[in-house]
Amino acid sequence: MSDSTAQPGPLTTFPLRVAVYCDKCGAEVEHDYVVHDLMTHQQRLDVARMYLVRNEGWSCTSDDGDLCPRCQPVITAFGLGPNDKRSLIKGPDQPR
Ligand SMILES: [Zn+2]
Repeated sequence: MSDSTAQPGPLTTFPLRVAVYCDKCGAEVEHDYVVHDLMTHQQRLDVARMYLVRNEGWSCTSDDGDLCPRCQPVITAFGLGPNDKRSLIKGPDQPR
């Protein structure tokens, strides 16, 4: 008889509910993510952010923080949205 109750690997993985907050409007999105014992809190948050960036249109950068789809700069067919910081950079045609 073989013993099949032992863990297949050294890591114990489990689903964990992680909430990510929008740094601008405070919107909160919670999902269950599969993490493992040795992951730090920061790593677990990174997993959550990666999911939101890829699947729900969030923008998570070290510069701007976590931004939900409604708060991040929107690039439309007409150009950059009004919230885009790049539109605030002075161009060569700006008066001094
Ligand atoms: Zn937001």
